[in-house]
Amino acid sequence: MSRRPLIAANWKMHKTTQEAKSFMSELLPKVADVKDRDILICPPFTLINAVDQARDGSNVLLGAQNMYFEEKGAFTGEIAPQMLKELNCEFVILGHSERRWVFGETDEMINKKVLAAFTNGLIPVLCVGEKLEEREKKMTDQVILNQMEKNLKGISEEFVNRLVIAYEPVWAIGTGKNATTKDAKEAIALIREFIHSRYGVSAAEKVKILYGGSVKPENVKSYMEQEGIDGALVGGASLQPDSFLSLINY
Ligand code: 13P
Repeated sequence: MSRRPLIAANWKMHKTTQEAKSFMSELLPKVADVKDRDILICPPFTLINAVDQARDGSNVLLGAQNMYFEEKGAFTGEIAPQMLKELNCEFVILGHSERRWVFGETDEMINKKVLAAFTNGLIPVLCVGEKLEEREKKMTDQVILNQMEKNLKGISEEFVNRLVIAYEPVWAIGTGKNATTKDAKEAIALIREFIHSRYGVSAAEKVKILYGGSVKPENVKSYMEQEGIDGALVGGASLQPDSFLSLINY
């Protein structure tokens, strides 16, 4: 079964409204004819509306970079799932390593967020991956499987069928040290095998698994050629329209 490739931009904490608008006006005409793959942009919360308005009628998908799992309430500084729906988001990145390791998000919180995203009609882009010291101790597989187990606890097959997972080794993010295609392929095969063992063959064939970590126009093709790698989640190289365009046209 062939899955539609997905090239996703994670803008992290970058861009003003004006910069986001110019990015969109430069990118959109150049991707209008792209029909065989999905393009996703995940701007900071403050730019979601501007990107949504700019993309109106285009083939660009929209996602947020995080959300809280509660519906509403006294949670100063947080954003609820329905707030993202109201802004027309289709996706939400959850469990990004910067959320885990800079802001202390736990596997249990991420699990609640994954469930809240699905029940509110958002597709999570669930990020998993090992830190450098874990890789050096040969704990990569164990770390990934532990994150998968905890982050997907209680999530039904119906939801998993629509899930996007990003394998993002922490040591490869923003460092210019990308994982080898072999490492990425093996980790992604492990993730798919986990889905297979828990949810069966159909879910394992449907779940989309991306690689993220120093993906650049120069290396994107080598990842996309690997069997089982369905796309890329890109930080730095997604910030300029030309560079993001080269990634889309890998
Ligand atoms: P870089 O592409 O900047 O390494 O970031 C990867 C990432 O964290 C995407 O979510």
